[in-house]
Order: sequence, then C-alpha cells, then structure tokens
Amino acid sequence: MANNLGLAVKPVAETPVEEIERVAEWINTEEYKELNFKREALVIAPPHACQPLGAELVAHAFEGSLPFVHGSQGCASYYRSTLNRHFREPAPAVSDSMTEDGAVFGGQNNLHEGLENAIALYKPKMISVFTSCMPEIIGDDLTAFLKNARNKGIVPADMPTPFANTPSFNGSHVHGYDAMLLAILQTLTDGKKVEGRCTGKINLIPGFDANTGNFREYKKIFEAFGVPYTILGDISDVFDSPNDGTYRPYPGGTKLDEAADAINGKATINLGPFSATKTYSWVKENCAGKHAALPMPLGVAKTDAFLMKIAEISGKPVPESLKAERGRAVDAMTDAHQYIHGKKFALYGDPDQLIGYVSFLLEMGAVPYHILCSKGSKKVEKEIRALLDGSPYGTQGKVYMGKDLWHMRSLIMTDPVDAIIGDTHGKFIARDANIPLFRFGFPIFDRVNRHRYPIVGYQGVINMVTEICNKFIEIVDETCEDRFFEMMR
Ligand code: SF4
Repeated sequence: MANNLGLAVKPVAETPVEEIERVAEWINTEEYKELNFKREALVIAPPHACQPLGAELVAHAFEGSLPFVHGSQGCASYYRSTLNRHFREPAPAVSDSMTEDGAVFGGQNNLHEGLENAIALYKPKMISVFTSCMPEIIGDDLTAFLKNARNKGIVPADMPTPFANTPSFNGSHVHGYDAMLLAILQTLTDGKKVEGRCTGKINLIPGFDANTGNFREYKKIFEAFGVPYTILGDISDVFDSPNDGTYRPYPGGTKLDEAADAINGKATINLGPFSATKTYSWVKENCAGKHAALPMPLGVAKTDAFLMKIAEISGKPVPESLKAERGRAVDAMTDAHQYIHGKKFALYGDPDQLIGYVSFLLEMGAVPYHILCSKGSKKVEKEIRALLDGSPYGTQGKVYMGKDLWHMRSLIMTDPVDAIIGDTHGKFIARDANIPLFRFGFPIFDRVNRHRYPIVGYQGVINMVTEICNKFIEIVDETCEDRFFEMMR
C-alpha cells in the first residue's frame, strides 16, 4: 500500500477481506441487533444537534438580531455551517472565541471584547447571546458578565441583549431553541404589558422549524382569514431572501416592537408543544388573551384543528379559499393513495415533526412502522401511541425513544420497510437497505430547495403526497418490464 507521496505504508493491522465481509453481513442480523440494543454508554449517529444550534436559528429570526456565541469558535462554525448548508444562505453569527485562557480564567474578557467588536462592525439592533459547552462546564455567569458590560458602556443602554444558557451535554437543538426564544421574549416584553390594551393580533409560536416554506404557509393562512398576526421568530425572509445583488446581514425577522407588544396580544397559539415548552409556560403566565398549544399542522386532521382554532379565536369562519385548498388536498390524497397504501415507513426526527408524520401517514393508509426519537420522552411516546392505536394502520407501529440512527439501521436491516422519513443523515441506511429516504427533516444538505416546499397546511399535504407517491411510482417505472407503465396503448 502506498500513500499519496508514493511511499510504502505498512498497516498496523491487516483486516482480511473475508473478515470485512463477515462483519458486514453480521451487522445485518438479529443477533447483532440484540447486542446493539443493549448498548448503553455509547451513542452512534444521534438524529439531533446540540442546544446552541437551535438557539442560533431563533436568534436569527428577529429584526436586526445578531446571534452571539459565548464559547468556542469551532462550535460556532458548526452551527453556522449547518444552517448555511441546509438553507444555502449565509448564517451571519459571531463568537467570542474562547480558548485555553478563557477556560482557565473565565470568558468575561472574551465576551466584552466580542460585544464591542460586534456592535462596531455589524451594527445590530439586538444581540442574542447563547453558550457552547465550554463556558457551561466552567460555570461562566452570563447575568453578571452582561451587567458588567452594560455598566462599562460596552453595550448601549437601549440595546436588548437576551441571553440563554444552552449546555449541549443536555437536551438537543429543540431545547436550545426554546431557551433562546424564551429569553428573547422575556427581554423584549419587559415592562411592555399595558392593562386593558389588546393588539387584536394572534401570536404564533412555530416551534423549531427549518422550513421557510412552512412560515410562508402560516402567513398565507392568517392572511386568508384576514386576521392580524405576529410570528414569534420568523425565519422566512432571513433564510429565503431574494438574490438581488445586495447582501443584507439582517434581511428579515419578527419586528422587535411587534414582538414586544405580543404580550398584549389577543391570543397566542403554540405549534411546538415539544420544542417551545418552557416558552409556552411563560406565555400562559404572562401574555394577555387566550392561549392554545396545538400539534404542528401536518396532515389534514391537524391542519383542520389549526384552522378551527384560528376561527374560534378570531370569530371568523374558515375562508372559502382554504376550504377549496382542503378539497384539493383531499383530492391529491385520493388520486395517489394506491401508491402509498400499506407501505411501511421508518421515521425519525424531532417530536413535533414525528407526531405530524405519523398522523399524515395514517391518513394515507400507510404504516408508520419503526418510529424513533433520540430525544423523546414518555409523553411523546404516549402521544404517538395514541395516534397509532386510533387507526387500523397503526397496529404494527413500534416506538423507540432515546435511540439513535445505528439502532434504526439494525431495525430496518432485520425487519425491512419500504421507505424512511428523516433528514440527510438517514441516507446511509437508505443506501444499505436500498429504499428511498424522504427528506422532510433537518438538516438537509444533499438536496436543494427542500426548505422552500411547505409540509404544513393543506399545501404541505399535497407536497408530501406528491413527493412520496411519485418516488414509489418512479421505482416501479424504472424497474418493471412494461415500458408502457401507466400509459395508454
Ligand atoms: S456539543 Fe458542545 S462542544 Fe460540541 S459543538 Fe455543541 S457546543 Fe460545541
């Protein structure tokens, strides 16, 4: 064996080809699956990211907000590049680049110098600070550090600087999203509650969602109703801004004054019951008006529930345009159901999305078979189980909480399915099992523009049905002997 300089390289240990082949076969067996499921101390390919990544997503989602990572440069690059590759858009964020001296003496100097530079260079309206593992491990006191920064005049008195502790050794990106969103709302609404004032608006908390098309779909629904609204954490223009030759570091996001006035709203709807849990508890305690937590509107039934809630809160009937769209979605499902009916799916992802996928598949007569969540809970499991138990297509479904993609591989190789729904990281399993992967989750690196196609609302139903069924049709068309497949002769 030679290296790229042509020099001979002697492997430390040769692995015979037969041994490689034997192990490759063995990892597809029941025996290996049993050993794999006994694994306790090791996680392999978890389908979730770390807390600060979720914090960064929502820190981008407000007008003029600069995400600021208190911690390591490498970590900050990871969140930025993940968002950047998923959206194929810039994800401008800064880091105070803590290194060894910060780890020993604390990161206050880094934070102060970083804030000074960030304000001078990037002129934000708000700086949203969150942490990587390192300052969390050494116990940096962000409350004191930021108070000192203000006292020293590093941060202007009127510039909001919400901050969230986002320790990555705990929770996942959805928990970081929740912590940062809560901090932003607490900061912006502080002192803004006015007794007797009502904005007349419905506040919408979308939950952790990296599909800009979904945000546009929510806007379309509210506008069809003619109901004023505020999306609390709107990424639609931030990560889907027009390419007109001018770079804008802050191309969109929820207006800061609107977010501040959300505390005087007519109502707040939370569509992320499992990704905005703490935020919603705070909303219930502090925001005026009605409060409702609903599942993500994936599939017809959950979209119906969302629309009925808007109708109930606003006192307006469901508009004809949305009724017609519902009819088109049902028609799309009916036209395509024979291509998906009875097909078995393996699913993984964040709890809110996972519950939606299960609901949608059951509506189509498909079988959610292996359902896996790496950061789920008993409550998530119970909710999925209730959906499965309510449908004849759910009887075979098995739910796995706290498992990873290496577990999922074992499940699929020993008990096959027809397709997977997940994010890009499922592609290796899909290749090994020779089945399609439907990329509806986050992140999606290996396909373009997926984040522009909504999967929520009735349009989302049409999009999902179309993508899934056309793929199954394509597989048959490419492999069957009848070259007139689905054509008239
Ligand atoms: S898990 Fe911790 S060390 Fe790793 S990228 Fe996230 S914050 Fe950084």
